[in-house]
Amino acid sequence: LTKLNKVFNPNTELENHVLHDISLQVKRGDLVALVGTSGSGKSTLLNIMGLLDVASSGELHIDGQLTQGLPELARTQLRSESIGFVFQFHHLISAFSVLDNVLMPLMLRHGKPSAEQKAYARYLLAEVGLADYMQQPTNRLSGGQQQRVAIARALVTRPALILADEPTGNLDTQTADEVFHLFERFNQEHDCAIVIVTHDPRLSARCPRTIRLTDGRILYDGHSNQHPQE
Ligand code: ATP
Ligand code: MG
Repeated sequence: LTKLNKVFNPNTELENHVLHDISLQVKRGDLVALVGTSGSGKSTLLNIMGLLDVASSGELHIDGQLTQGLPELARTQLRSESIGFVFQFHHLISAFSVLDNVLMPLMLRHGKPSAEQKAYARYLLAEVGLADYMQQPTNRLSGGQQQRVAIARALVTRPALILADEPTGNLDTQTADEVFHLFERFNQEHDCAIVIVTHDPRLSARCPRTIRLTDGRILYDGHSNQHPQE
C-alpha cells in the first residue's frame, strides 16, 4: 500500500476522512496484528486490502499488480485467487453443511470442486478439529466451531494473503487461543501472509509484527515486543 487514503461520503456533510496516507508492505510469512481503538479504521483498511472496498487515493499492489483501475471481474478474480477473508461473524450459510460452506469459494470459482479439492477441504476441516461435523448444518455448531469453519473456508483456496477481522472477538479465551493457534500454524506451514485485527493484547503479542492505527494513521509498525502497550 502506498499513500493510501479513504474518504467516506466525500464532498457531503457526512464527509469522513478515515485513512490518511497509509503506506505498508505485507509479505509471505508475515503474521501481523492490526490494532487500534474502535473507529481508528482497522476494518476499513482490511476491507480495502481484501478488495472488498476501494481506496479514495493511493495505490494498492497485490502480487506486484496494481489493483486500482482493474475491472470488477479482474478484482473478483484476484480476490478469489489470492485472498482469504475471515469476518468477525463468520458469514456462513446456515442451511448448508460444514463441508459445503468450506467448498463454497471453490464452487464460486470453478463450479464443481474436483476430488483433490474436496479431499483438501476435508483435510482442513480435520486440521481445525471438525472431522466429525462435516455433514452437519453450520447452525448446529458453537460460535468457536463456526469460526473454525470460516477459517477452513478462507484457507481452502490456498491464498497467499489471509485477512481476519477480529476472528476471535466473540469467543471465550480458550477458544480464542485455539483459533489463534490455527493462524500461527498455517502461517508457518503454508508460508502465507496473515493480518489479524484484534483487541486482545495477549494475541497481538504473539504476532511478530504489530501495526497500530490511531485516527486512521499508522502510529507504529514494527516488532510486537517493542510495541508500547497502552
Ligand atoms: P472497531 O474496532 O469498532 O471495529 P474499526 O477500527 O474497525 O473499529 P472502522 O469500521 O474502519 O473502524 O471505521 C472507521 C471510521 O470509518 C468510523 O468513523 C466509521 O464511522 C467510518 N465508516 C466505516 N465504514 C463506513 C461507511 N461504509 N460509510 C461511512 N463511514 C464509515
Ligand atoms: Mg472493525
